[in-house]
Amino acid sequence: MSKNSKDLSWMARITRWFGVTCEDTTPLISELMDHNLPLGKRLRLKFHLGMCGVCRIYEKQLEIIRALARKLGEDDAPTQKDAGLSEQVKARIKTALGDQN
Ligand SMILES: [Zn+2]
Repeated sequence: MSKNSKDLSWMARITRWFGVTCEDTTPLISELMDHNLPLGKRLRLKFHLGMCGVCRIYEKQLEIIRALARKLGEDDAPTQKDAGLSEQVKARIKTALGDQN
């Protein structure tokens, strides 16, 4: 048995003891970004992130995706005033409304 596999089994035992696997952790990462978690869940999450590089990468990727989505939402959000209508469409609406009156 190599030193590496010994380390992995030790980590796997600790992880099992704390009841925090990658499958348990990924939903907690998303949950923490949306709202605060109870102390116990936060500790389990921090414990797992402290020893799992894969979940740390997942956390970073999620942060990047959320930041990009927020940025896209800001750029594409139509203003309340004109709801993003083009000048041509606005002119057609005005004409149609004018025709009805
Ligand atoms: Zn993990």
